[in-house]
Amino acid sequence: MADLRLAENLSRLGTETAFEVLARAAALAAEGKDIINLGIGQPDFKTPEHIVEAAVKALRDGHHGYTPANGIPALREAVAADILLRRKVAVDPADILIVPGGKVTMFFAILMFGEPGAEIIYPNPGFPIYESVIRYSGAKGVPMRLREENGFAFDADEVLAQITPATRLLIVNSPANPTGGVTPKAEIDKLVAGLDRHPHVAVMSDEIYGRMTYGGREHVSLLGYESIRDRLILLDGWSKTYAMTGWRLGYGVWPKSIVRQAERLAVNCHSCVSTAAQFAGIAALNGPQDAVDRMVAAFDERRRLIVPALNQLPGFRCVDPGGAFYAFPNIEGTGMTARDLQKRMLEEAGVATVAGTSFGAQGEGFVRFSYAASAEQISEAIRRIGAVL
Ligand code: PLP
Repeated sequence: MADLRLAENLSRLGTETAFEVLARAAALAAEGKDIINLGIGQPDFKTPEHIVEAAVKALRDGHHGYTPANGIPALREAVAADILLRRKVAVDPADILIVPGGKVTMFFAILMFGEPGAEIIYPNPGFPIYESVIRYSGAKGVPMRLREENGFAFDADEVLAQITPATRLLIVNSPANPTGGVTPKAEIDKLVAGLDRHPHVAVMSDEIYGRMTYGGREHVSLLGYESIRDRLILLDGWSKTYAMTGWRLGYGVWPKSIVRQAERLAVNCHSCVSTAAQFAGIAALNGPQDAVDRMVAAFDERRRLIVPALNQLPGFRCVDPGGAFYAFPNIEGTGMTARDLQKRMLEEAGVATVAGTSFGAQGEGFVRFSYAASAEQISEAIRRIGAVL
């Protein structure tokens, strides 16, 4: 019998429960149950046709080989042009690293700064992979608390007070998963000004939902702050904006001083991103943006449908999410834990959601609803949950 001995740090690696919920929902659906999936965080739209065509053409044209590890030059130039257009910031294409999905930039950034003795500040509730990889690296995770009463925006003074000489990396995410929170510019200004006192702290800004803000909220990119440019890692990608989650395509903009180390991790890990996906990425950025505008308008419409509906459910209370495509209601009034409610909604109402505790300890008392689903599905889901409650 095999007697395998795994590395100790693997025992500290967490997971993303949304994928488990997806599997359970699929299993129930396979048994013939009618399941509405408000669990997984991905657009319910198809990738726009011209993007798909660009990938097909690339394959037909014989682009079957490796590309440079940091990405096709034309793709990195398209990313730089897009950043100049939307964020009004000039970026050297040499500082861009194309990776297989937004997740890879966070994995690399955390591994590059995390080790025993180091501290990393991360949003809680927040995307679960931050905490998971921080723990895996051996670093100490310091939760940045996001509060319902602040619309789940971070409090700059509170974050700055958490910085110690051991802090290596600060992770921010706005618009945020799982809360939909958008941190206002004044708070970001204050954070960046305060960082002047802490030049040893790098910042990773996860702006994967940057194109999705609603109700007059603006997305403020941390890349726009010159004073932290030499320690700012920008995480973005195509998954959410262009409905391309399965293509595995993302990018990081790295400080010039460390971009080659990030590229070295890429060479050691995946060599380069699928060539056809990179050609698709060029078409997405350089082509028409009306499909993106339509998707964002649809998300906004659904947000205006789901938030009041959630607020009418007994024991629910939901702040208005300013961005992304998530609602994160407080469910304490139901008397159930987040996990119990998630389970009952799936098993009894056939509605998949994700318990707030999947996003960190501070998520107890909340459940995440992804509203990247049709208006009919959302209305029916709320009706069924109401009946169960
Ligand atoms: N960052 C956040 C905040 C996310 O919610 C997600 C996906 O859910 C990602 C990054 C990862 O995106 P990708 O699918 O491109 O790896």
